[in-house]
Amino acid sequence: MIIAVDGPSGAGKSSVCREVAKRLGWSLLDTGAIYRCVALIALENHVDTDPKACAEIAKSLDIRFVASKGSQKVFIGARDVSQAIRTFETTQCVNHVSPMAEVRAELLGIQRRLGHATDSIVEGRDIGSVVFPDAELKVYYTASAQARALRRMKEFEAKGEHFDLKEVVKQIEERDETEFNRANSPLVKCADAVELDTSDLNFEESCQALIRLIQTRQKELA
Ligand code: C5P
Repeated sequence: MIIAVDGPSGAGKSSVCREVAKRLGWSLLDTGAIYRCVALIALENHVDTDPKACAEIAKSLDIRFVASKGSQKVFIGARDVSQAIRTFETTQCVNHVSPMAEVRAELLGIQRRLGHATDSIVEGRDIGSVVFPDAELKVYYTASAQARALRRMKEFEAKGEHFDLKEVVKQIEERDETEFNRANSPLVKCADAVELDTSDLNFEESCQALIRLIQTRQKELA
């Protein structure tokens, strides 16, 4: 089975999908990490504004996800890039590398191969719309900008960093704007997706809600 989970940044989609995949004994395919790998290599080779060069990197990307202590490490070849793909610089870079049509086209095959290898939760932005349009279940995982901002603030505060809530809401809305309006594979809620609004749910409740959706679908298909 393929469960496609799409939704905007910062809603906690990745951590909830990771936990649910773990509880069900399924694989998690974090497609954002794949885009981040391309951005990292492009950045290191100073070609991150060149769509053709980025597409070449995507084409030959030797990416592996390795389960590690309840989490997942990301490797390019023998190199563990789990940290490097999450830095501020890579995050900035992936925002202009991921909308490149050439890169997206090259990554389609990799995502389909990895997703089909086993029962998978595949999370991203265009999974239900482009990568796995025939997924057995499509979930649109979201939360209001205000709720997402509050979650971010908590993360910042845990690290001793303090930001203005209004400023964080504004940043989130700007990022949404880019993801919803980009020309290639914009974030959309598919007509056949079930919306899971987690604005008023905590982590455990969000996991339970996703598990319920999956189990209901499994029963329908049985
Ligand atoms: O989810 P995450 O923040 O790791 O995604 C990294 C980048 O990749 C974001 O810019 C996001 O828009 C993009 N992305 C995408 N398509 C996907 C998954 C992520 O364009 N399927």
